[in-house]
Amino acid sequence: MQGKTRMSDKPRNQMPLFVQERQSSLAGVLTTSIKTPPADPLKPMEKLGLCVLGSGSGGNAAVLRLGDSALLIDAGFGPRTTDKRLTQAGLSIKDIHAVCLTHLDQDHFRRTWPGTLLKWGIPLYLHDWHYPDLMRIPGGAELRDAGLARSFQFQPFVPMPGVRASTVRLQHDKQGTIGYRLDTHAGSVGYATDLGHAPPALVQHMAGVDLLCIECNYDEHMTTTSPRPSWVNRRNMSDSGHLSNEQSLEAVRMIADASPVGLPRDVVLLHRSSQCNHPMKVRRVFERDADLAGRITLTDQRRRTRWLHIKPAKPSKRDQRRLEFS
Ligand SMILES: [Zn+2]
Repeated sequence: MQGKTRMSDKPRNQMPLFVQERQSSLAGVLTTSIKTPPADPLKPMEKLGLCVLGSGSGGNAAVLRLGDSALLIDAGFGPRTTDKRLTQAGLSIKDIHAVCLTHLDQDHFRRTWPGTLLKWGIPLYLHDWHYPDLMRIPGGAELRDAGLARSFQFQPFVPMPGVRASTVRLQHDKQGTIGYRLDTHAGSVGYATDLGHAPPALVQHMAGVDLLCIECNYDEHMTTTSPRPSWVNRRNMSDSGHLSNEQSLEAVRMIADASPVGLPRDVVLLHRSSQCNHPMKVRRVFERDADLAGRITLTDQRRRTRWLHIKPAKPSKRDQRRLEFS
């Protein structure tokens, strides 16, 4: 593809973290200073952390911090909301080294982002399948021309220093989504959302991650009895739609079974439907498994999670027994 920029492009200059007071004028969209003090920064000794800035059908974004670098996974809130939530977490958009997209639906990439990415020189990583669609979005061609639209196929790449990204294809609508595994010297993260089912490739790809973020979209009964049009329900419940609570639990169990250390230390549940799911429904499903119950974090559309400090997973008692007798 002409003019397309690949991973060999030089990384952008690193900018300082923990900017607590600053004038915000991000691509002209923010004109007032953000005064909210960082409420919950990752402690300096905690090298690797993840904070989900929000998740649901109205927007999705998470930030991974490794040392002095920060990586955004999806950009489904506008720059103003994202910056506000980053500030609460002790970061700002200026600290974002790169953005990795799962796909281009508006709840994963707000169309207001290209100007901000251009202003701060933040590269956007996306799969080859999604690249033509980016070019149809206002500002997409400008990102390409600035060398900031960086597409990949399935080769691993380094979106920021110290992070190796490897990807897996997931089925969702026509274009599919990308599941990320992000490996660092301090631990590893898996991120999979908007997938109609959990294929064996996903299970193998995510086996052994220390922190797993996975979609937990709908409760089956609430969906089938909801007033939504039946075609919406059929799409969401299809193999190209979303994972139900039960399917999400099953996927986590399969990933744990394929891992030498069993369950991830933390399991973060993404993209809960506000109409067809409820936090209590999710908890009821996941608390069936005593080992898993204490490891889950529910995300919310309207607020960010706390920082989850990522450490290498230790085998649970159940997994220790499995390893001892295997
Ligand atoms: Zn979505």
